[in-house]
Amino acid sequence: MKSVDSVCTYCGVGCEITADINISENIISRIYSKEGAEVSNGDLCLKGKEGFSFLTNDKRIDKTIVSWKFIEDNWNLCKDLDLDLSRPTIFQNQLFYAINNRQVYKLVARKISEITNNFGKKSFAAIGGARTSCESGFLFQKFTREVIQSPHVDNCARVCHSPSLSGLRATIGEGASTNPFNDIENAEFIILIGSNITEAHPIVGNKLLNAKKAGKLDIATIDIRETQIFKNSKYGLVIPFEANLLILNMIARVIIEEKLENHQFISDRTKYYLEFRDSILNDKFADPDFFKNLAGYEDLPDLIRKVARDYSTKKSMILWGLGVTEHFDGSYAVMALSHLALLTGNIGKSGAGLMPLRGQNNVQGTCDVGMLPYYLPDYEKPEEIGMMTPQIFDSILSDDPERVRIIWNMGEDLAHIHANQNKVQEALSRLDLLIVNEVMTSEVTKFAHIVFGVKSAYEKYGVYVNAERRLHLSQPLIKSNLPDDWEVIQGIENELSGDWSYNDSEDVWNDVRIGVKNRYGGVTYDKLKENILSGLQWPMPLNSETDTPILHLESFRTKDGIARFYYHSYKLRGQIEELLNFGKVDENYFYLSTGRAIAHYNNSAQTKATDRLYRLHSQDVLIYSIEDREFFGHRKSAKLKSQYGESNELILKQSKRMKKGTLFTTFHHPESRVNFLFGDEGDELIGTSKFKSIRVEVI
Ligand code: SF4
Repeated sequence: MKSVDSVCTYCGVGCEITADINISENIISRIYSKEGAEVSNGDLCLKGKEGFSFLTNDKRIDKTIVSWKFIEDNWNLCKDLDLDLSRPTIFQNQLFYAINNRQVYKLVARKISEITNNFGKKSFAAIGGARTSCESGFLFQKFTREVIQSPHVDNCARVCHSPSLSGLRATIGEGASTNPFNDIENAEFIILIGSNITEAHPIVGNKLLNAKKAGKLDIATIDIRETQIFKNSKYGLVIPFEANLLILNMIARVIIEEKLENHQFISDRTKYYLEFRDSILNDKFADPDFFKNLAGYEDLPDLIRKVARDYSTKKSMILWGLGVTEHFDGSYAVMALSHLALLTGNIGKSGAGLMPLRGQNNVQGTCDVGMLPYYLPDYEKPEEIGMMTPQIFDSILSDDPERVRIIWNMGEDLAHIHANQNKVQEALSRLDLLIVNEVMTSEVTKFAHIVFGVKSAYEKYGVYVNAERRLHLSQPLIKSNLPDDWEVIQGIENELSGDWSYNDSEDVWNDVRIGVKNRYGGVTYDKLKENILSGLQWPMPLNSETDTPILHLESFRTKDGIARFYYHSYKLRGQIEELLNFGKVDENYFYLSTGRAIAHYNNSAQTKATDRLYRLHSQDVLIYSIEDREFFGHRKSAKLKSQYGESNELILKQSKRMKKGTLFTTFHHPESRVNFLFGDEGDELIGTSKFKSIRVEVI
């Protein structure tokens, strides 16, 4: 038996874990957190503690497989390869062959060359990286940009926090959390908006609750339904759908009208305040009294004023989740969050700041290393901007001879987690080549021509960056003979050009440090090993000996060090427009939002392999308001229909915590087909899908 310290593989909280390993059987006996670990400090949620059964589950992909149909259709590329066709396997009802990696690398390289020679380099797109290490994400974009010479790289930040990146970069120059999670205990007031924190980021949720219990903190929670943390909140604001920007602008207006601004901070550290003030004071949608006439939401003007007063007169933070970003105006709402911090000087110090609660364990890292179409590593601008994931799907479905024909997908279940699944799945089925690196059988592997079974985070070394910019070195808990993602990438690069010869993850990391020198330059494997249960927070540039827990202390990370106000008014639409015009929502329609449950992680491919987690949440349930009980009558289940598609039948549950005319469900189980309901609408600036609001019919 031995114990190994590492980091949880699930969410962006990035809890440090310790695993007891049965060495002779090469299995994990238990996972727990040590007291004193920086983020987790003896506390893990259920996924962190129990979500490791996927390693031995029969849905684990434990080899490299190639579809027979692909071999048959590409026999000209295969015939002189040493393809051992003696190991047929039925994979998701299709005939595949298990073939050794060396031969598959050759086959993939030949097919990529054939397609890019015939149709151009931009026929190739790479998507993924937020679930694997920085090393693999870095090489994925390097392979695509330098070896293939295609600009098309993207990752699942597109369906979550890209608006946080764009909104924060526009206002304060850096698209990342300003403070460490542990600084929550130094805050006096927190606005939590668009985050069901106790289910989606439970260990950060516990930090809020502990500070609240200790009498140090008051919380204002803003959401479209009463989440668990409402009962621990001084103010609980249930708001209409798509109202974030509206509410945040109103809070800013109250701060200005009641002269609660920090004028010294504004004049020393910001610009464009006067333009901002004039715009907001002349905007009819920024007046909190707007809600006086909105049926069901008449309590909001008073609550908005109270939140504005507490926020501006105390040491305050704002935490937010996908309830803010997955909207038409997600980037503008994030700018509005920045405005509140800038107006009041609640930034650049301990106990005050802005914290996007990012989703995947390495979504921050994969953006840092350049897996975005508009940023190179370290957020440098590329010469050519590539397509975002929704544009890639449009390209595949177009008649353009230079359309995308190849997707290499690394650990992102495109056929489950993206919006507009009718369209996505049609696009995936039209590809000439779909390569998938995966740990578990998933929806996207059903469309794959070639599947590389790869090491999970618990079987390899690699650096992961959590939602507070903290780099942790993940260490192997058990042994695996599968390749790491970066080894597959190097294997194919070697067949195409043969310039790479990385020996191990540390070797790749030393290249990442050069590519991301302003943030990661001084972070070596040795330093991460010395700080295995605390990690290091970027920026820690080359030759720097210290990390940076709090950003923007002296100046902002804009070019001139000054933060900016950019006002954007709310655009009337959706539920609010209906309520305003008709006093109620059309009784035949509902507004649906989605989110996560504590037992699962996104497509649940890993978490449902643990019996207890699966039993806790074995299906997606549709929650409706008790005020709509007459409409639902004695129905036990219902299907939903939107202009884009239909769900499957969902079990119904009544709740006192929802407002009339609104619905909520999770999207963990693919058989529910929840993401078939959502369409192409997304954030105006950055395309992130509008998962948090869709008008649906109950059928
Ligand atoms: S909060 Fe997130 S990182 Fe922490 S144990 Fe749970 S899933 Fe893992």
